[in-house]
Amino acid sequence: MSSTGSSSSERTAVFVHPHPDDEAIFSGGAMRRAANAGWRVVLVLATSGEEGEMPDWVMVDAADHRRMETAEAADHLGVSELHYLGYRDSGMAGSATNSAGRALATSVADAASDLAELLDRVRADAVIGQDPNGTYGHPDHVAVHQVVRSAAHEVGVGELLEVTLDRSWLRNLRHDRIERGWLSPDAWALASIEQLGTELFESMVHLDVTPELAFKQAAMAAHASQVPDAQDFMGIPPGTFHLVVRNEWYLRSQPSQDPGLLEQTLLGTNPR
Ligand SMILES: [Zn+2]
Repeated sequence: MSSTGSSSSERTAVFVHPHPDDEAIFSGGAMRRAANAGWRVVLVLATSGEEGEMPDWVMVDAADHRRMETAEAADHLGVSELHYLGYRDSGMAGSATNSAGRALATSVADAASDLAELLDRVRADAVIGQDPNGTYGHPDHVAVHQVVRSAAHEVGVGELLEVTLDRSWLRNLRHDRIERGWLSPDAWALASIEQLGTELFESMVHLDVTPELAFKQAAMAAHASQVPDAQDFMGIPPGTFHLVVRNEWYLRSQPSQDPGLLEQTLLGTNPR
């Protein structure tokens, strides 16, 4: 990891995700773009992904291994500082680990207070959290939505964006692939798209991250224990996922506000 000291003119963007690999999949392009534009990029992971299924080639426990993968991914994404809040991965919805000791899903107030302290310490100008649906409904993603909203409000961070997926874009992608005969309608249930992200609305920011794709792919590849080559994730079928990761979507948490400096940087309307 490059350890760039912060200069007073440097702006700081803090990306907060529940598990190792979420940062690369959902926001890798924006992180790299912000870093390239001169922002100090801070990555905060609420857990170490203890409940992730691990392949048998992994030599150490899941948390240790995933932290090693994250350090490598962070280098590709231009991260200056990497922090863990130290909560436990709550596992998938409905599993017993949802409420195990220090599970993130049942520690929202504590995690929000820890994050507020960190945002203050790194002097966050912008913070990036998760959408209200938790991107795909995972309990830890919903928890991070609440944690980030609460901490950003407490500290008074000026700009808050939330990672999401655009359902209407996904529906169009599905329709297009089926029309072309590339995808069987059964391979991607329309109902599964309704579980993802949010409907398109005014304050949604769409980024085509093709220019940053090599860095994003390298970061995703660094999470080798979690991200296999033929991806089937969130119900999105193999052969389609690579089209999704070329794109990222963010919601402005206060739609009434003007675009903040990070949003302007990401959209290229405020070249720095
Ligand atoms: Zn996750």
